[in-house]
Amino acid sequence: MSSPPIGVLALQGDVREHLRLLTSLGVEAVAVRRPSELDAVAGLVIPGGESTTMIRLARIFDLIEPLRARIKEGMPAFGTCAGMILLADRVLDGIEGQETLGGLDITVRRNAFGRQVDSFEEDIHLAGLDEPVHAVFIRAPWVESAGEDVEVLATVEEGPAAGRIVAVRQGPLMATSFHPEVGGGSRIHRMFVDLVAQHTST
Ligand code: GLN
Repeated sequence: MSSPPIGVLALQGDVREHLRLLTSLGVEAVAVRRPSELDAVAGLVIPGGESTTMIRLARIFDLIEPLRARIKEGMPAFGTCAGMILLADRVLDGIEGQETLGGLDITVRRNAFGRQVDSFEEDIHLAGLDEPVHAVFIRAPWVESAGEDVEVLATVEEGPAAGRIVAVRQGPLMATSFHPEVGGGSRIHRMFVDLVAQHTST
């Protein structure tokens, strides 16, 4: 029996790369723009982009409440960069009244790495992976603080931001500050595919 597809929230951002990577792992991957499309997926990637724009578009497309409901029911979701912000329960340096979908018991700081180092790349170690991953950060958030049920998967290893949390998992939800879809490799997507399988098998 074929398993249900994994969706990529396709309001804005790096949608195509995520779809391509998931497909390369032998998974059926579909773009999600409507509540009916959301209903059909077993898990959802929320890509990078601009969190304020994405939440605004989610409102326009009548997706906010359906997304919140699925997350609450335990749908696995993987947020990258702006997607991490959308999954966070709390946001620092957001725009006035910035809403999120929530689910992850974390406080994220938007554009946390500052203007000088808006974008940078670093090889970092991720819990559960033997070899480091090449992490590409683009105006990225970091996790300022995390609740006790949140597992820290990776921190920055060098420079002034060393020690800052940049990858987390809590039950069926995971998030990275960086963009695994442009770093090369598919190991982090594989982790998410495994997470989806783990949470959809009975
Ligand atoms: N700075 C963006 C935001 O606040 C995130 C950047 C990204 O996703 N590459 O939403």
